[in-house]
Amino acid sequence: MYRFSHQAAEQLGLPVHRVCDGRTPFELFRDVRFLGNNRIAPCSRLLKQIPARRWLENAIGDPANAVLYVGIDHAEEHRTASITRGWTPWRVQYPMCDKPHLTKEEMLDWAISLGLRPPALYYPPYSLPHANCGGFCVRAGIRQWRHMLTVDPHGFARVEAEEEELRAELGDVAILRDRRGGYSRPLPLAQLRQREAA
Ligand code: SF4
Repeated sequence: MYRFSHQAAEQLGLPVHRVCDGRTPFELFRDVRFLGNNRIAPCSRLLKQIPARRWLENAIGDPANAVLYVGIDHAEEHRTASITRGWTPWRVQYPMCDKPHLTKEEMLDWAISLGLRPPALYYPPYSLPHANCGGFCVRAGIRQWRHMLTVDPHGFARVEAEEEELRAELGDVAILRDRRGGYSRPLPLAQLRQREAA
């Protein structure tokens, strides 16, 4: 993703301003004593939205001098109203919602035709719909975590170890939940891995 954004910025003749808190999502979870999951992900708010807004206020100042382009495409257009509200008073546009409505594959092919190399996570063996956090997003569902266990077992082991460290500190918490049998309970990654191996 970092390579792709630098390559794209170079084509546009623009610098990349990297807004960075400095912590990984797990370092943040430890600090706020809460493990992110697909219902509540403090990493998204504290590592992305708040630092980005702070940067805009400091570096740009007046919202009249900027337009924010958010990478939501027409398949997720229903999310735009709340995102626009959340960024008030900054103006937000969603060029990927404009017509003609291209599929993700068509957009990636277009990028390639311009000489760009899209992030590897969009392609086999990963074939993910989003290229963020190396495929190990706390908002992803069990199906994606199972897939990541197959295609990136070392990455899975790293996140599993981080989850175990937090469980030792916070108790029976987990990124995933097991909802089989009509009950909802934490499903640690270690348990998911053991279940897949059985
Ligand atoms: S991609 Fe997922 S895990 Fe990574 S910061 Fe965003 S919400 Fe958190």
